[in-house]
Amino acid sequence: MRGEIEAGVSPGRPLLLRLFGALKSTLRLAADVALPQLCAACREPVDGAGLCPKCWSKLAFIAPPYCERLGTPFPFDDGPGRLSLEAIAEPPAYARARAAVRYDDTAKTLVHALKYGDRLDLAPTMGRWMANAGRELLATADAIVPVPLHWRRQWARRFNQSALLSEVIGRASGRPVAHGALKRVKATPQQVGLGKSERAENVQGAFRVPAEGKAAVAGRRLVLVDDVLTSGATVDACTRALLRGGAAAVDVLAFARVVMGGRIPI
Ligand SMILES: [Zn+2]
Repeated sequence: MRGEIEAGVSPGRPLLLRLFGALKSTLRLAADVALPQLCAACREPVDGAGLCPKCWSKLAFIAPPYCERLGTPFPFDDGPGRLSLEAIAEPPAYARARAAVRYDDTAKTLVHALKYGDRLDLAPTMGRWMANAGRELLATADAIVPVPLHWRRQWARRFNQSALLSEVIGRASGRPVAHGALKRVKATPQQVGLGKSERAENVQGAFRVPAEGKAAVAGRRLVLVDDVLTSGATVDACTRALLRGGAAAVDVLAFARVVMGGRIPI
């Protein structure tokens, strides 16, 4: 105890820590200048952007024709306003969903690099693709709402990837981002490895519009932003919370979406 107090007030220690911190950031800066950026997927050097041309060409961008409701691509064009069987059988709580790319290995690498690998430099590119994919939704939106993390997870990760992407989308579309509109009130386990009904159960009651978020939600048309759309359980729970909070409409915009017809690949 005595030793701890002495170490805490020792005049030399904080200075040393400060010097060490300064040295570390100088080294990091030097490394940034000296080393080329690496492709987020294959780690080959690239100039500027996050992906090398080869990995870029492997990304599966989602384009029409797709289900008007879920945004899942159709193999052929059968005229506008078509709905998928899935949208008819199990309509989601949200009105429409759109995503920039299909969730495959390349998309997964990008999402993981942003989320866990501290490749925050990927956010502007990914966000711009999302703004492009969600142009129709954003045109009529009053605000963008990021899917929130529980405060403990955000504290551990230091940032919320959905909030970062929302900022880019907000700048690209001229729509405001309502950061405090939705709160994660339950620390839910990761959805990885869970089936569809377990995922829905896992996030039930996990989101709420806090008192200070009501003004940003009531009567507004919102676009909810997440990195990956898998079973849709998380965005469905968020949508229901926003609708209970008085939202006029909720659409969903994701970076990548799982296209069914296979198993959930995460
Ligand atoms: Zn690459």
